[in-house]
Amino acid sequence: MTKEHELLIGGQARPAEGERHFPVHDPATGQVLAEVADATRRDVLAAVESAHTALKGWSGTPAWRRYEVLRDGADALRRQVPELAELISAETGKPTREALGEAANTVRFFEWFSHETLRLPGQAWPEITPTRDAVVVAEPVGVVAAITPWNFPAFMVACKAGAALAAGCAVVLKPAEQTPLTALFIARVLHDAGLPPGVLNVVPTSDPATAGEVFLRDERVDCVSFTGSRAIGELLMRGAAASIKRVLLELGGNSPVVVLEDADVADTARQLVQARYLNAGQACVAANRVYVVDGVAGALLAELRTAVRALTTGHPRQEGTDLGPLIDLDAVERIERQIDTAVSQGAELVTGGRRLEENAVSAFVEPAVIAAPAAREPAVLGEELFGPVLAVVTCRDEAEAVELANSTEYGLAAYVFTGDRDRGLRVARRLKAGSVGVNCALTSEPQLPFGGMKASGLGRERGRAGVEEFLELKTIQVAL
Ligand code: ADP
Repeated sequence: MTKEHELLIGGQARPAEGERHFPVHDPATGQVLAEVADATRRDVLAAVESAHTALKGWSGTPAWRRYEVLRDGADALRRQVPELAELISAETGKPTREALGEAANTVRFFEWFSHETLRLPGQAWPEITPTRDAVVVAEPVGVVAAITPWNFPAFMVACKAGAALAAGCAVVLKPAEQTPLTALFIARVLHDAGLPPGVLNVVPTSDPATAGEVFLRDERVDCVSFTGSRAIGELLMRGAAASIKRVLLELGGNSPVVVLEDADVADTARQLVQARYLNAGQACVAANRVYVVDGVAGALLAELRTAVRALTTGHPRQEGTDLGPLIDLDAVERIERQIDTAVSQGAELVTGGRRLEENAVSAFVEPAVIAAPAAREPAVLGEELFGPVLAVVTCRDEAEAVELANSTEYGLAAYVFTGDRDRGLRVARRLKAGSVGVNCALTSEPQLPFGGMKASGLGRERGRAGVEEFLELKTIQVAL
């Protein structure tokens, strides 16, 4: 095993206890990419200890110095964008073009967070009463345990570790078992660029439940920041109750789209292809359910059918590929079951949905569109569709479309398409979602807060809000 595949604890690459390791696969070929150190409970505890020890120095480092360290880290990462993208694509199966986009965005977010170090909030209230002054200072929350998913393995590290480090926190990062190489690579680059030892530790493991348990039980961990499934989010929130630990949750979405009769249908279809089939549909903000008013439903379906058929499913490193394989066979089986269920519940399969090439780890799934009238909306559309299938439901009017759009337990993202921007804004205000795209697919911008309403999560990531989640306010009154 090379150093790149070992745990990163206290700035040192080290093997897991008992030299345990687990394989990481390329979902496009099924081949083993690497054997990665498999952290045990004791290894995770060591990482927590290391973060706890490093916290004092890092949180006490003057903001300007912390900024320089994080900026240097972002600069170093920028020089390695091609290598980073290669790893992202290899581990996730996403096309090189998308992996390059993710790598570049990862750098951009680290850079932006580095600047936020210089603007951490504080307030002064001189003579708040005749006999005292007051100041409100923002202190880092402490040690942050970051649990990241596989679908954006680099970008999610930037959103969590970038923000937490900017806030002055120390981090223990547990990447998804499918994508530890990307996380280890980023942490290694940041360390080589000057991040002090122990400030960012990485513990890949094939046993995430044990790592999660350590994070929840250990008093030295102050905050758990998680992105993943609702089920695990619920489990973590329950576990955090025992010690009233701060939990930040970015969970699933079941993003609706409202298409009104005055929408530019061709452009809507283009935006929807972007909003649905990016990363082979494996994105939490992906458009799942389109509620289109009757008058333009036929035209939209025709545009979508053509646009989706024009997508190329193929090897991620082949030029011109739009969709790679799904992350694993479980994901393939889940999306196939959802398509079959929708059809058995009365939906029409407009195009796609076949399993193409497959290997021992995963398979390529043809991008699909299914359609149904609102009166027979398949119940399975209540579930998140985490794969390349878009459901189109024909509605009577705007009111029905908005009502159906909001009839979900989730509230992460939503979209509205209309020729009238004011109307678009009005509808956007009525959609229960943390982010709304009006006539556009959503992009990730460092300035913009992101997060879920309802069961989609707690707290915000990215933007200034995303840094503030890792701060505690302390109010000090001083007698004059
Ligand atoms: P997905 O279905 O996208 O894989 P998960 O919620 O299972 O979603 O995984 C997201 C992240 O949560 C991964 O890093 C995974 O290892 C981690 N995880 C899975 N189970 C647990 C658990 N019991 N405690 C803590 N983290 C977990």
